[in-house]
Amino acid sequence: MRKPLVAGNWKMNGSRDANRELLSALQAELAGVDSVDLAVCPPAVYLAEVVDTLSASPIAVGGQDCSDQASGAYTGEVAAPMLREIGCRYVIVGHSERRERQNEDSVWVAAKYQAAQAAGLVPILCVGEQKEEREAGRTEAVVSEQLDAVLDAAGVESFDHAVIAYEPVWAIGTGLTATPEQAAEVHAFIRNRVAARDPRVAADLRILYGGSMKADNAAGLLAHDDIDGGLVGGASLDAANFAGIARAAAGAGE
Ligand code: PEP
Repeated sequence: MRKPLVAGNWKMNGSRDANRELLSALQAELAGVDSVDLAVCPPAVYLAEVVDTLSASPIAVGGQDCSDQASGAYTGEVAAPMLREIGCRYVIVGHSERRERQNEDSVWVAAKYQAAQAAGLVPILCVGEQKEEREAGRTEAVVSEQLDAVLDAAGVESFDHAVIAYEPVWAIGTGLTATPEQAAEVHAFIRNRVAARDPRVAADLRILYGGSMKADNAAGLLAHDDIDGGLVGGASLDAANFAGIARAAAGAGE
C-alpha cells in the first residue's frame, strides 16, 4: 500500500510574514490529518526558517531545485548537500517551468536527480507534455524520454527513493486540470514503463499528479489507484485549499 504524498510548490511566492501566517494556518487545518505524507517547498532563501518553524510538525520541507554539482564555482546555485544539511527531505527536479525557462533537458535533470539522492534527499521528478505534444499524440513519447533519461542514468532501483510527479504542462497554473481519466491513463503508463524494468519498484512507487489540483477536484483524481497524491502549486498558497487536498488524499489512501 502506497502512502499518499501531497507536496506544495510555493514557486517564487512568499515573504517571512506571509510564510509564518500560511504555516500557522496550515498546521491548524491539518491537525489530526494523518495517513498522508505532507511537504512544502518554499523558495530557497526561506527554507531554513520554514524547517525551523515546522520542527515539531509532521510537515516535511523540500527545495524547488538543486544543482547537479555538490559544491564549487556555480554562482547562484544551491547544492543538494546544503538542502539536506538544513533539514530538507525532498527536492523537486525537472519542473516544467525550469525545463522551459532554464532550458533544463532530461540529461541535466537526471544529473540533478542523482545529486539529490547522493545527498540523501528524495527527488520529486517532474515529467509531462506540452499542449501541442498532447494534441499531436506524443504524450507517451515525451514522458518516456523524460523518464528513461533518469532510469538509464540512475537505475530503476533508485526509484525506491524517489517520487514522480506527472504534470501536464498545459494544466500547470492554467486552471485546466486534466480529467481524472486523462491523468490516470498517463500514471498507468508511467508505472508500466517502470514495471518493465522492475515490477516491485513500480508497485511501490508514488506517482503524484500536478496541474491545477484544488480541494474541489482532488478527490476525483485521487480516487484512481495509480494517483498517489499531488504536487500542488497555486492552491498550496491557501491553507484551506491545500488542507482540503490533503484530506482528500488521506481519505483516498485509507
Ligand atoms: C506546479 O507548479 O507544480 C503546479 C502543479 O502548479 P499549479 O497547481 O498551480 O497548476
